[in-house]
Amino acid sequence: MDIITQNQQMFPVVPIRDGIVYPGTEMILTFGRSRSVSAIEAAQGSGKRVVLAMQKNPNVNDPTPSDLFTTATVGEVLQMMKNEGEINALVRGIAKVEILSYEAVEPFFIARVVPKEDVVEDNDDVKALTRHITGELRRAVNLGKSMDFLTFMNIMSGVTSLQLSYQIAGIIDIKPGERQELLEITSVKERLEKEIAYLAHEIKILEIEKKIASKTQEKFDKNVREQVLRERMKTIEKELGEDGDNKETKEFADKIKKAGMPEEVQKKAEKELLRLNQMSQYNPEASYVRTYLDWLVELPWAVATANDVVIKAAEAVLNEDHYGLTKIKERILEYLAVMKLRAAAQKLQEQEVNEPEKKEHKAKSAPTILCFVGPPGVGKTSIGKSIARSLGRKFVKMSLGGIRDEAEIRGHRRTYVGALPGRIIQGIKQAGTKNPVFMLDEIDKVGNDFRGDPSAALLEALDPEQNYAFSDHYLDVPFDLSDVFFITTCNILDTIPPALRDRLEVIHFPGYTEEEKFHIGRDFILEKQREIHGIPKDIVRLTGQTIMTIIRRYTREAGVRSLEREIAKLFRKIAKKIAERNGKGIVKFLLSPKDLHQYLGPLRFTSYLAEKTDVIGMSTGLAWTEAGGEILFIETALMPGKGSLMLTGQLGDVMKESGHAALSWVRSKWSELGLDEKFFGKLDVHIHVPEGAVPKDGPSAGIALTTSLVSAITRIPIRRTIAMTGEVTLRGRVLEIGGVKEKVIAAHRAGIRIIILPKDNKKDLEDIPKSVTRDLSFHFAEHMDEVLKIALTKPLPVKKVRSLPVRPSLHLTA
Ligand code: ADP
Repeated sequence: MDIITQNQQMFPVVPIRDGIVYPGTEMILTFGRSRSVSAIEAAQGSGKRVVLAMQKNPNVNDPTPSDLFTTATVGEVLQMMKNEGEINALVRGIAKVEILSYEAVEPFFIARVVPKEDVVEDNDDVKALTRHITGELRRAVNLGKSMDFLTFMNIMSGVTSLQLSYQIAGIIDIKPGERQELLEITSVKERLEKEIAYLAHEIKILEIEKKIASKTQEKFDKNVREQVLRERMKTIEKELGEDGDNKETKEFADKIKKAGMPEEVQKKAEKELLRLNQMSQYNPEASYVRTYLDWLVELPWAVATANDVVIKAAEAVLNEDHYGLTKIKERILEYLAVMKLRAAAQKLQEQEVNEPEKKEHKAKSAPTILCFVGPPGVGKTSIGKSIARSLGRKFVKMSLGGIRDEAEIRGHRRTYVGALPGRIIQGIKQAGTKNPVFMLDEIDKVGNDFRGDPSAALLEALDPEQNYAFSDHYLDVPFDLSDVFFITTCNILDTIPPALRDRLEVIHFPGYTEEEKFHIGRDFILEKQREIHGIPKDIVRLTGQTIMTIIRRYTREAGVRSLEREIAKLFRKIAKKIAERNGKGIVKFLLSPKDLHQYLGPLRFTSYLAEKTDVIGMSTGLAWTEAGGEILFIETALMPGKGSLMLTGQLGDVMKESGHAALSWVRSKWSELGLDEKFFGKLDVHIHVPEGAVPKDGPSAGIALTTSLVSAITRIPIRRTIAMTGEVTLRGRVLEIGGVKEKVIAAHRAGIRIIILPKDNKKDLEDIPKSVTRDLSFHFAEHMDEVLKIALTKPLPVKKVRSLPVRPSLHLTA
């Protein structure tokens, strides 16, 4: 076509569905649409040039001018080949143009275009970009990017930055819209920058693909290796006259027979074995079937240890392993006795029915499940072990802490890759018998979310009514758990779902007194640790005072875990000393409290509460947490202000409300407390409960909060050796609270000598060991007034004689 004016030219236009031939690049295109074919043919007669314009939507079959982008390329048809109405053409991009208007649409588009020049920035940035992009391209090719070798060589041999920007645009892997965008950019620098980003993304993907490919290859190699070895083994066995396949089958068949499976399970196992035989060695599923069969034959379907409960013997074992815990041992023995009687009754019933097939499944073991509740280190696990020992059963323990997925309990279905049975079945396999003592630890820490409810699965496993046919998703056949002696443990009961809690027979482990710890330390832990550390008998002796010092000054806990750890540390040091002597005579170690520093380091708990002085505004409360009972300090500070109350120390809502109630009570008592009627308007009150990192909640700090507040306002100190617990009402009544035993033991441990409790809690003292109560004096309060009388070092100021304004009373008519 001829030049018209100002560089405007007219060319036939060929719509391209989703590609761009950039200036300076070549591409083979196939044209099939009649309009395109005639445009190419027309171009043959006039300089072989056409405008190649991309469609905005590749799916439009018969595009109109408005369907095409206006920025396009003029291209030259270098070669063409006709083939059954289609044209294959090698086209070279010549220049970028802007379509101004369409002059004709039939039989093909003719457009008036004007060249669109690029701006080539002449600066170091462009140079740097050029260098960087060629480097990246090389990297991509090394990682496996496929591209035309000649184009690659062309780029690498050095082209101008403008050419480079178009060459790269032609080879990177991007969407059609992004291609058009690159064409429309006029700044070479900008185009290169965009391309670098696209190329970086491509490289990342190539890297990931490479990683996946190498992993797959590894796996494949391993599989192939195994198959080859298996085949070779078979050939060798054949040579030797043994058939490999048969050998495996025979082994499994043997095991299935010996496993003592119920009929239904045996059928299933045999079916799977048949499937395995029919499978080619090269089938990857074969190894899954093998693993499954392994599980089936290794489970103790019929293996049980003798189960004859002799109560006297059990008692002896429990006493041999544990100091104290009298009530707990008693409860356990009662439980064992019930179990024994039920088993006997069941046997009798079975004999009467005498038709085993028709026999209904009845709960064989215990009516409920034991649940040991208490802080860590109080002997829950070790009592569990003792129970197993006294019954002559195996012991297994599984921790359920943090489980959120039902499949952890019940297993994954076999269709899952890497599926395994759940923890219950795993525990049974570990025990190797079908009647172990099975301890499920931390059932209070079982969560539940979108992956199902583990506690429902747990309930099914524990419930004697249904666990004779426990279904694990992996096993796919029922397993009888009714002979298992389940014991659960937890730190607190509150977080256990109610349905599960209903089934539990709860036994509380309240924590030990100092005296109990002393006996446990001296008579059990010392001996145990001595043996563990391989130290000969009679070489080490700790005086009573020494053991007491470890308990008091190196540990502060409800159980005896830290005590055990400290004693272990001590023996480690002694073992080292003995070893260093290299058998040069035997030394004896008689340790007094003074020597502890050398073995255990400086005292960890130096200040004893009772040694401190009385303070204004600071009271001692008692709390009950997962770790057992604890003492709690409550501080009140007053400052000039406008009557606001601030509560800090990670307090829960209930505890905050207690704080507000305490303040309201104090304000309503302004007269009795000898205060000005408007005293509060000029004050700000801040109540803080230290150890701010530990969340605290509950109503039982009510009286301690109120006492602290009264002391701060009246400036009368609180007696240091007093601790208190109790809920308080707005009228000052003191209400009953829970956890008295744990709280009292904690107070005793901390050196408190006087305790104020709600009157209604008097009954709880019965449970507390004498060794604790004998050191303490208790006050039982019904009203806040009594609390203040005992807790404050001085009586409250004498009531100011002040008449309250008389109000007309309200008359109610009946
Ligand atoms: P828990 O399971 O409650 O966290 P453990 O059973 O693990 O606690 O007890 C911690 C350690 O203390 C164990 O070594 C245990 O033998 C010992 N222990 C706890 N209570 C007693 C006790 N009454 N008599 C003897 N040893 C005890």
